[in-house]
Amino acid sequence: MEKERLLISTCLLGIPCRYDGRSVEGKFGTAASALADVLPALTARYELVPFCPEIYGGLPTPRVPSERVGERVMMRDGTDVTAAFMCGAEGALLLCRQLGIHKALLKAKSPSCGKGRIYDGTFTGSLCDGDGVTAEVLLENGISVFDESETDILLAEL
Ligand code: SF4
Repeated sequence: MEKERLLISTCLLGIPCRYDGRSVEGKFGTAASALADVLPALTARYELVPFCPEIYGGLPTPRVPSERVGERVMMRDGTDVTAAFMCGAEGALLLCRQLGIHKALLKAKSPSCGKGRIYDGTFTGSLCDGDGVTAEVLLENGISVFDESETDILLAEL
């Protein structure tokens, strides 16, 4: 039987595509996947499809960090990168549609991938209610979005 496909933020797999040129580090402070302890179970259950919306949208790595500011996405230096973030979101949705993906495991708090709580646009590390651009577009189109604290739900689902 074919495995169900799961879109996953590339940085959660140890790929250094974050704005600071790093991945999301594993719990031992290495460059390993932040999901190292659950990765065997995830790969047994799902075919993982890695995707980084900001890279797809044409932004370099490393890059100046960005946050959502109202309907726009701004870099800390004031550059408006809304179009690049929208391109990334549309790429994620296109991939989901082409590959029949109905679930996504996305990095929490990110202005692209965050779900429910994201950085608030002040570049102070403060959070506010809201979704990253890609998470928002996927949710609007019926894709279920989970963050890295919710792998137990993904593994429990049949
Ligand atoms: Fe990770 Fe998403 Fe940021 Fe790419 S856009 S580095 S996948 S959180």
